[in-house]
This record gives sequence, structure tokens and C-alpha cells, in this order.
Amino acid sequence: MAEWVQGGYSGIYYLGEKGTKDYGGYVLRADGETNPEVWFAYEWDASKEAHAWVGRATTAEDAQKAVKGKFLCEVWRNKETGHCPYPGVVVRTLLYRGEQLRMVLCGEHSHVMKGWETLRLEDYRSKYGLIPNVGIYGGRITPPLDLPPIREAVLNAPTITERNMWIALNRVVRPLAEMHYWWGHFARFPLDVNERSYRDARGQWNRVQEQAAGMYAVYMREEHGKRNATLPNELLRLIEREAVAYLKGKKGGK
Ligand SMILES: [Zn+2]
Repeated sequence: MAEWVQGGYSGIYYLGEKGTKDYGGYVLRADGETNPEVWFAYEWDASKEAHAWVGRATTAEDAQKAVKGKFLCEVWRNKETGHCPYPGVVVRTLLYRGEQLRMVLCGEHSHVMKGWETLRLEDYRSKYGLIPNVGIYGGRITPPLDLPPIREAVLNAPTITERNMWIALNRVVRPLAEMHYWWGHFARFPLDVNERSYRDARGQWNRVQEQAAGMYAVYMREEHGKRNATLPNELLRLIEREAVAYLKGKKGGK
């Protein structure tokens, strides 16, 4: 992982060493006398062998966040689940009292701001620049989840019934990630053909989620004597955590 290092003077920082594969770009302070608090961020695009402007901020630290920035959905859900963790795909904007309000949204939430303009995240970013989490007051909140990876739970399950339950949960991870991938793709490129891919992914996800809920009910009945148990939010969040990790590992990111 490349680190930020100061350049020849205090007004420039590089992400990694230039010329290496880890090099990510730089931030530069604007003219120190007229604009002492303005920093510009430039990202290195290895495929084009060129720097692209990606954002501006009032501190070097904030400007650095724009370089190789990870943009996640900024929707606040609730205290138990925190902010939506899926990749941002569009930016919705609204001109309000002369100021441009903006919000980064995932495919699922791409329609929540009624009457706002929609731009693809990459288009917005190259035009106006973008710092991750700017639309969130006080920073991103992700409540801690004290559960091991599902694969580990499968291996450590003390009974066959519990093991089957974890295996069923594990089967939900990938279809959930695929559904979010197509949801995002459809939000960025709204074509009928994308809608079909999205609907197929959604159908697949519905099926595996039902099976997982069924296996959880069996497990709770057989091992804990509870009838009609439904999948607890904690396990849904565990599935979500792994789906988000899967999406990050997917080629192309989002
Ligand atoms: Zn979202």
C-alpha cells in the first residue's frame, strides 16, 4: 500500500513513488499567498499514463482522500446498520440557495432524491472533483459486527444442522453482490438489456435468501426449540459485509 510523502517543499505530497506501480498521484497547494487554504488533487491513471484532476479541498489531508478515493453510498439507514456500504455509482445534485448540494448513491438508492439531477459518478468526478463522504455530516458510521467470516463459521459448526445453516447463508453472499453490481450498472447505463441482468440477479438472490431463511428456521427449531424464527439482522449484516468485500474484489471495482 502506497503512503503519502512530502515532496520538495511543504506544498506538495505524493502518493507512493513516481514511476513505480504503486504510484497514485499527488496533491498540490494553490498559490500560497492568494489561496493559502486551497489544495488540488491529481490522480495518476496508469492506463493513460497521465494525471487527471480529481478534487479540491481546504486541507492537504482532505485533498489526499480524493486520490484513489473509494466512493460509497452516502445514505444513512439506521443506528443498527449505519450508512449504506455499497459502491457509489451516481451523484445526485441540487442547486439550493446558490449552493450545489450533492450526494453519492449506490444502485439501490440511486432514485431516492426526488427532483435532483443525476450524473454518473465518474463523469461528476472528472468535471467537479469529489472527496469521499462529503455528503455525510460527521463522517461515515459503520456499527461494529462481532461475527467471524461465514466460511470460518462453517468449519467450526458443532452440528450438521448448524453447518448447513451457515452453508446456506454463504450461498447468499455472491448473488447479493451480483444483484448490487447489476443494480449499479443499470443506474449508470439505463438500458433494457441491463434491466434483464439486474432482474435475473435479483431473482437468484431472492431464491437463495429464502433457502437461507428456511435453513435458519430449521436450525433454531431443532437446536433451540424455537418455532418460526426469522433471519436476525445481525446475520443479514454479516452477509452484507461479505457481499461488499466480494464487490471490492471484483475486477473493475464497481
Ligand atoms: Zn445505498
